[in-house]
Amino acid sequence: MFSLEKIVRKNIQKLKAYSSARDEFKGTAEVYLDANENPFGTLNRYPDPKQTKIKERLSTIKNVEDNQIFIGNGSDEVIDLAFRIFCEPGKDKALTFSPTYGMYDVSASINDVELIKQPLVNDFQISLNQLQPYLDMEDVKIIFICSPNNPTGNCFEDETIQYILDNFNGMVIIDEAYIDFSTRDSYATQLANYPNLIVSQTFSKAWGLAGARVGVAYANSNIIDLYNKVKPPYNVSTLNQEAIIASLDNISLFEANKNTIINEKDWLMNEFKNIKLIKKIYPTEANFILIEVTDANAVYDTLVVKKIITRNRNSLVNNCLRITVGSKEENTQLITALKSII
Ligand code: PMP
Repeated sequence: MFSLEKIVRKNIQKLKAYSSARDEFKGTAEVYLDANENPFGTLNRYPDPKQTKIKERLSTIKNVEDNQIFIGNGSDEVIDLAFRIFCEPGKDKALTFSPTYGMYDVSASINDVELIKQPLVNDFQISLNQLQPYLDMEDVKIIFICSPNNPTGNCFEDETIQYILDNFNGMVIIDEAYIDFSTRDSYATQLANYPNLIVSQTFSKAWGLAGARVGVAYANSNIIDLYNKVKPPYNVSTLNQEAIIASLDNISLFEANKNTIINEKDWLMNEFKNIKLIKKIYPTEANFILIEVTDANAVYDTLVVKKIITRNRNSLVNNCLRITVGSKEENTQLITALKSII
């Protein structure tokens, strides 16, 4: 049986959150002399520590309650805080499926947590047989499932994800950084079914706001309460909150840009089929494509000379490059460059 109390670190359970000036006075006043701010300027006031306006909008769009939303300094903060909340440094473990997003490993190391990396099998699927022994290990506190997965681009089967959610008594973090490019439903619609579920999303990809550093976690309110307790009080700046609110108020632009990227991806996939040095094009539900070439290091270096930067994933998947879908002009430049390589 999953018990949140059992898996939260004792020091975090006992922790009393920092109470900021903005937490202590609610309402509106004329004179604010409570936060040691400067009375002059335009960014002189601290930001809303609860990011209320963002949550109001996301709550409507995603059909979740405000108290089921955490706003982070990028979804990298969602990952880091999970280690801090659930994993005792030097003792507890987490698990993910490799190849996957590298920050799970870096964040685990920073927090002195061992990350078990279970290899994906058969074109990057999760093997439940291999996973089974880990599901009952009490010191494994978190399983990270990146779906669509970076750098492979595929989603995992719903039956597999549901099996893990049903049979693991720790936290399951589904990283949906690329979900908007996929046709699949977000697991954020499943919060009522799973007390051990955290869904992570970001404004860095389909929303086009990587520079604003804003990520989101959706989970049941008792988990979100823990996130709010552990986060730095003013973790999202006023400018960044405003940028997010402006985009959330212009969903049609978001949809249009996302659809352009998806169409460009289809165009690139087709073009790749006619390029001899590409040996394999992996199916993708994200805004990038993993391709296998004859010599990834050589192709990467040649593209750099042509001033085109791709991601060399040779160390993770033999002879593979991960290519982000760009604008029409960028993609055309890439294809011309690839065609010119002998
Ligand atoms: N998760 C995945 C799978 C990613 O690929 C990335 C960024 N590359 C992130 C999370 C981090 O995104 P953010 O910009 O929200 O920190």
